[in-house]
Amino acid sequence: MTNEYQIRVVPEVAAQEDRLKDWLASEYGFDVRTIYGVRILKRSIDARQRQIFVNLKVRVFINEQPHDDEYVRTVYPNVEGKTQVIVVGAGPGGLFAALRLIELGLRPIVLERGKNVHDRKKDLANITKTQKVDPESNYCFGEGGAGAYSDGKLYTRSKKRGNTDKILNVFCQHGASTAILADAHPHIGTDKLPKVIEAMRNTIINCGGEVHFQTKMTQLILEGDKVVGCVADTEYRGPVILATGHSARDVYRYLAEAKVEIEAKGIAVGVRLEHPSQLIDQIQYHNKQGRGKYLPAAEYAMVTQVEGRGVYSFCMCPGGFVIPAATDKQQIVVNGMSPASRGTQWSNSGMVVEVRPEDVEGDGVLKVMAYQEELEKMCWQQGNMQQTAPAQRMADFVNGKLSYDLPKSSYAPGLISSPLHFWMPKMISKRLQEGFKTFGRNAHGFLTNEAVLIAVETRTSSPVRIVRDRETLQHIRIQGLFPCGEGAGYAGGIVSAGVDGERCAEAAAQYLRAE
Ligand SMILES: Cc1cc2nc3c(=O)[nH]c(=O)nc-3n(C[C@H](O)[C@H](O)[C@H](O)COP(=O)(O)OP(=O)(O)OC[C@H]3O[C@@H](n4cnc5c(N)ncnc54)[C@H](O)[C@@H]3O)c2cc1C
Repeated sequence: MTNEYQIRVVPEVAAQEDRLKDWLASEYGFDVRTIYGVRILKRSIDARQRQIFVNLKVRVFINEQPHDDEYVRTVYPNVEGKTQVIVVGAGPGGLFAALRLIELGLRPIVLERGKNVHDRKKDLANITKTQKVDPESNYCFGEGGAGAYSDGKLYTRSKKRGNTDKILNVFCQHGASTAILADAHPHIGTDKLPKVIEAMRNTIINCGGEVHFQTKMTQLILEGDKVVGCVADTEYRGPVILATGHSARDVYRYLAEAKVEIEAKGIAVGVRLEHPSQLIDQIQYHNKQGRGKYLPAAEYAMVTQVEGRGVYSFCMCPGGFVIPAATDKQQIVVNGMSPASRGTQWSNSGMVVEVRPEDVEGDGVLKVMAYQEELEKMCWQQGNMQQTAPAQRMADFVNGKLSYDLPKSSYAPGLISSPLHFWMPKMISKRLQEGFKTFGRNAHGFLTNEAVLIAVETRTSSPVRIVRDRETLQHIRIQGLFPCGEGAGYAGGIVSAGVDGERCAEAAAQYLRAE
C-alpha cells in the first residue's frame, strides 16, 4: 500500500529518514517496521517564524518496496540519416533544443564556439592565474553555456508547470539528483553540472546527432528571406536555431549589419553583494546560532522601487562564490555560483537596478549593449586593468565613503578598494544606496560593513531582442531562423532557456513538415 501525506515537521525530522519514519508512524498510527520507504515529493522551508518548519509532501510505502520511477524518462530514438537542424550554441537553450529535435526524429548539428565542459574548466582557472580572459572560453562561452559554472538554480517564474517539470526530469535522466523534483527552490551546483551536461552531449551523439566544439558561427546563409544554413569552420545546411546567449556581442553586431531585425531591450545593472553566509543564516533563520546542522544555507530575495525603477536581488547564491564572468579582455563582469553543498563561508547575490532602453542615451538597436560594454570597461580600468574587481564595503557605499580595507572575499582574482558610489552611473548608485537602506530596515543586520559590493554586474539578461513571430517562433521576417533562449530575449535562466529550446525545436519540426 502507498499513502501520500502533506506534513509539516521540524528540520531535524525532515532531514533524517529514520526520524521521518518514526514521526509518520506515530502520527498516523503505523508500526514503524511496516514502513519500507518514504519518498519526498515536495519540500519547502517555512522560515517566517522563529521556529522553522519544513513542509513536505511524502509518499509512504507500507508493507511494499518503493517501486515507482523517481523521474519520467524520455525516449530518444536514433536519428542517423534524418533531416538535420543546425543548433548554434550549446547552452541550456541549445542543448534542450537538440534533445527535443531527437525526440521528434530530427538530427541536431550543434555548433559551439567554446570548448567542451571539461577543457573549459582550465580556462576558468586561468582567469585567476593570469588575470586574463580567453574570449572564446570563459564563464559564458563553452559547452553548457552560461549555466554550466553557476549555482544551477532551477526555478523559474514560468507558470507552465508541465514544461518546467520536463526540463527537470531530463536533468535527472542525465544524472542530476532527483531532489530537484521535490525542492521548492531546486539547484544542482557547479560541481555536479559538468557531468550532467556531458551526459546530455553523449545522448545527442549516441543518437546520431553531432556536437562541434570550437566552432563559431560567423554568418547565416540566406536565400532571399530564408535561412538555409550557416557558416562556421565550414558550411552547415538546415534551418537554424540560434541560441547564442546574452554575451555573444559579435552575433548581435553581425545581425544588425546584416539587417536582420533586432531591437534594444531593457536589462538590470548593479553589483554583486557578498555577506558572510553565517550572517545571512542568522538573519533569515532568526537565530544567532545560524542554520544549525539540518538547514541549508539561507536564501533571500529583496525587491523595492526607487524613483520609478525596480531595485532587486538577482541570482542569489547561498554558500557560493563570486566569479569573474567577462567574455573579453578589457572588461570586468561579476556573477555568482555555488557548489551543490552550498557550503562556502559566503552568500552573494546580484543587487541590480532596472535599466530601460529609454534610460540610455543615444539611439540604435545596440545602444543598451554599448552601455553595458562601456560600464564593464570602466570597471576594468578601475580594477587596475586586470580582473581584480573594484569593491567597497556595503555601509561605506551607502554613506559615500571609501573603504580603508575590504573583508575577505570568495572572488578569486582579488579585490581593490574603490569608491563605487562615485564612479558608477548615478542612476544606478543612487538607487542602490536607497534600495540598501530599505533592505536594511526590512532585514535587521543586512546593511553592514561586513558585506562587500563587487563591481560590476551587467549580464543579467540580453540587451537585445531578436524579434520573432509569436506563433511560428521564426524570426519576424526571415524564415528558417529560430531565435532561441536568453540571447534572443525570450528566456532568463537555465530552465526557461531549456523550455524555450524545446519550443524552438518543435517550431523547427513544424516548419520542416510544412516545407
Ligand atoms: C555565472 C553565472 C551563473 C548563473 N547562474 C544561474 C543559475 O543558478 N540559475 C539560472 O537559472 N540561471 C543562471 N544563470 C543564467 C543562465 O546561465 C542563462 O540564463 C542560461 O544559460 C541561458 O541559456 P542560453 O542557452 O539561452 O544561453 P547561454 O547559456 O549563454 O549559451 C549560449 C552558448 O552559445 C555559444 N555561442 C555564442 N556565440 C556563438 C557562435 N557565434 N557560434 C557558436 N556558439 C556560440 C556560447 O559559447 C554559449 O555556450 C547564470 C549565468 C552566469 C553567467
